[in-house]
Amino acid sequence: AKLMGGGQIQHFSEELKAAFKRKLTMESQLRAALDHKELFLMYQPKIALKDGSVAGLEVLLRWRHPRHGVVSPVEFIPVAEEAGLIVEIGEWVLKSAVDQCRAWRVEGVPTVPVAVNLSARQFHRTDIVGCVASVVRDAGLAPGDLELELTESMSVQCPERSAGLMARLRGLGCTISIDDFGTGYSSLSYLKQLPVDKLKIDRSFVQDMHQSAESMAMVKAIIAMAHGLRLEVIAEGVELQEQLDGLRAAGCDQIQGFYYSKPLSPEDCAGYLREQAAP
Ligand code: C2E
Ligand code: CA
Ligand code: CA
Ligand code: CA
Repeated sequence: AKLMGGGQIQHFSEELKAAFKRKLTMESQLRAALDHKELFLMYQPKIALKDGSVAGLEVLLRWRHPRHGVVSPVEFIPVAEEAGLIVEIGEWVLKSAVDQCRAWRVEGVPTVPVAVNLSARQFHRTDIVGCVASVVRDAGLAPGDLELELTESMSVQCPERSAGLMARLRGLGCTISIDDFGTGYSSLSYLKQLPVDKLKIDRSFVQDMHQSAESMAMVKAIIAMAHGLRLEVIAEGVELQEQLDGLRAAGCDQIQGFYYSKPLSPEDCAGYLREQAAP
């Protein structure tokens, strides 16, 4: 660092200070966001390729910031994780998602299972099994109405404990998916032992599968392996007809992406579900 000269170091530390301040600001604003009802959920359809029906919805969190507009979860989830706020936020997401599902059912909207993303901290540092069980029960739903999306990286740290938690959640009747599959570092022998139902192929493979032989090979291999393990496969981030065709040819079970639909507001989603279920 000395070689860089004093000026640069000074500049760097100012930048660090600014970043730190931004983070602190976001942290306290995020705390307020929960109380002020600035968080909301969007719902993105997952389509079954065998018959084109809606197989489920992924619940995606948004923050309507009073000054910055809608903030992406990519920006604030890491801050929430670090500040420990993710626990409260995660519980809010779970509860709101099942409450929405329940509300649709009461209104006569044809519902499908909702998939909620769990963060590592929420999974490991809370009574996630008890929380899921009570949230579903309080909403008057069945655990089968809830799917949980976990990432590979969440379970590499404590594989045995993770597998135990997954087994208990699955024992309740929830569906367990491994999200962003292919981007983590879990070994295949480990995957064999994971009590999961579904793999979700990461968008990075889907993105260029129509123009990269390597990505196409990865996608085909993941699908073949998943089916060999009797797991379902869903591909995320599908935007183009060519990607859809490739995935269909490779035997992928479900598709999610802008090709079918962007994430929808609850109102638009209700309309979408009604439309899709109409004969
Ligand atoms: P993810 O779980 O991989 O979610 C998929 C992301 O891809 C979503 O971004 C979705 O809007 C976007 N997407 C869907 N289809 C397409 C497509 O065809 N093309 C492109 N380019 N993008 C597409 P989003 O909503 O910004 O969420 C980003 C990430 O934030 C999620 O990635 C997830 O890891 C995290 N996240 C979102 N909601 C929650 C939540 O409630 N709890 C936690 N812990 N994490 C969440
Ligand atoms: Ca996800
Ligand atoms: Ca994903
Ligand atoms: Ca992803």
